[in-house]
Amino acid sequence: MRFRELAVYLEKLEKTSSRNEITQILAELFKKSHPSEIDKIVYLVSGELAPNYKGIVFNIAERLMMRIIAKAYDVKVEDVKVAFKEKGDLGEVAGSFAKEKGGNIEISAVFARMLEIAAEGGGGSQERKITKTAELFSSLDPLSVRFVARIPVGKLRLGFSDMTILDALSVMVKGDKSARPLVERAFNVSVDIGKIAKRVKERGLSGLKEVAPEPGTPIRPSLAERLPSAEKILEKVGEKVAIEPKYDGFRAMVNIWEEAGEKKVMIFSRNLENTTQMFPDLVDAIKKIKVKSAIFDAEAIGYDLKTGKFLPFQETVQRKRKHDIEEIAKKFPLKLFIFDILYKDGKSFLTTPFGERRKILEGTVGKVDGKIELTRQEIVDSPGEIRRLQKEYLTEGLEGALIKKIDAPYKAGARGYHWVKYKKTTEEGVADTIDCLMMGVNVGKGRRTGFGAGAFLVGIKKGEKFETVSKIGTGLTDEQWRELNKRAKKLFVSEKPKEYEVHKNLEPDTWAKPSLVVEILADEITRSPIHTAGLALRFPRLIRFRDEKNPDQVTTLRELEELFEMQKI
Ligand code: AMP
Repeated sequence: MRFRELAVYLEKLEKTSSRNEITQILAELFKKSHPSEIDKIVYLVSGELAPNYKGIVFNIAERLMMRIIAKAYDVKVEDVKVAFKEKGDLGEVAGSFAKEKGGNIEISAVFARMLEIAAEGGGGSQERKITKTAELFSSLDPLSVRFVARIPVGKLRLGFSDMTILDALSVMVKGDKSARPLVERAFNVSVDIGKIAKRVKERGLSGLKEVAPEPGTPIRPSLAERLPSAEKILEKVGEKVAIEPKYDGFRAMVNIWEEAGEKKVMIFSRNLENTTQMFPDLVDAIKKIKVKSAIFDAEAIGYDLKTGKFLPFQETVQRKRKHDIEEIAKKFPLKLFIFDILYKDGKSFLTTPFGERRKILEGTVGKVDGKIELTRQEIVDSPGEIRRLQKEYLTEGLEGALIKKIDAPYKAGARGYHWVKYKKTTEEGVADTIDCLMMGVNVGKGRRTGFGAGAFLVGIKKGEKFETVSKIGTGLTDEQWRELNKRAKKLFVSEKPKEYEVHKNLEPDTWAKPSLVVEILADEITRSPIHTAGLALRFPRLIRFRDEKNPDQVTTLRELEELFEMQKI
């Protein structure tokens, strides 16, 4: 397919806000595409060149893009700047300079050239990037370049997520969304959405049945549900349950395999980002585990070298800084607590009951170098024991407990009652903290003028939309206000993002694009006529910025409604 044809679809998608229509447009596009290009199309409509975990980035900032546009169309950088000020979008700027001629170039060719540009590195790479991108632009028609120019600067947001792509794949083969669960199951086990699309295109739905875990490609992690009391937990999870401490660190999906006689290790976060470079100390220890290949589910947490006490998440999270890792690793060493095994030496255990997986895990992992440990576990059958163990974990500085169903398979990508968290707040007020999206800010009044933001609007997720639940103006320390302001500034956009649903009386002074996730603790959830979620948070307090979560992972309306119902019990 020619890129110009894809650009027509991209324009249609840009103009559509109904999720159903977007799904239909995508399905039609996928249907028309060739099996050799569908993976590339799937990445491109998401504004990417590869799944996130592959970490392919352009490193092209807006200023550099302006120089590229100037070079491509032989105009002055100053003129590009003026046009950018006027239009506010570099895609449109590039489109306005482009000539109608170009446009016969194939999608695969554009994609290959973009990959080549992203791969440029080392001395002189900036100049090579400019030249190659400018060459690419000058071979494109105005509509195509409008979209191509947005990708390197991370601005091709068409307002839908991977889930809509999965729906569209179902519509492509079945004419409706009925195959979505099957497509989603395959995606959960192997998150390369391009590869999944290609498989459906080549082999139809039956091709998905063979999708199996493959070390090096992330599996979507299983997630925990909440319940209001230890009694309810036993009622729902089982008469006998496994209970484990809940560590408040980084989720680490550990992948091990051999390549050319060498052991490879890759660690993925809960968001499926490749976080391996954050853990050089753990990687060495992981290599000592006696397996050829394996996928483990685990949590990495920092501890104080002197006291041996676990560190709060805020300190463990310092590892996120990309520089000084070695330095930080010395100051705040980590321990990796492995709690599940999903694959070993060619065999998948996704459908193996947890009790059996635990035995396999015990036979595979022991203590390594004081850095790796098997998560301790007890089997219990009374609410009293659950409460006792939870208290024990809390006094050790841990977050609480996880209660697990003994005969459950590993539910990749699913939140369910196979895992239930029992945290400090479980039996008081709102049973859990709520992860909200920061949607916009109001400027501060009085003392807080100095911080910039004086209040901020937060929301939860309903399908592809974000609906508001609170405008938070208190419950932050001065330090948190400063931090919020610093982060918010980078996210300001001139118009309300199309996935936001906000009552007009609550519209903030400045909108923020969907990016920043904040963890909020509230005293109560109440019905609300003004917040679009229909529910509001009373006495909200900011617990922390959840950098490891993306907007797709904020609390959903269904979960908030469950928390609301739990208060009544
Ligand atoms: P939540 O993110 O609140 O849904 O809680 C589940 C999270 O707890 C997982 O994503 C893990 O990162 C973390 N976790 C800590 N300890 C455990 C454990 N023993 N079993 C499973 N998850 C754990």
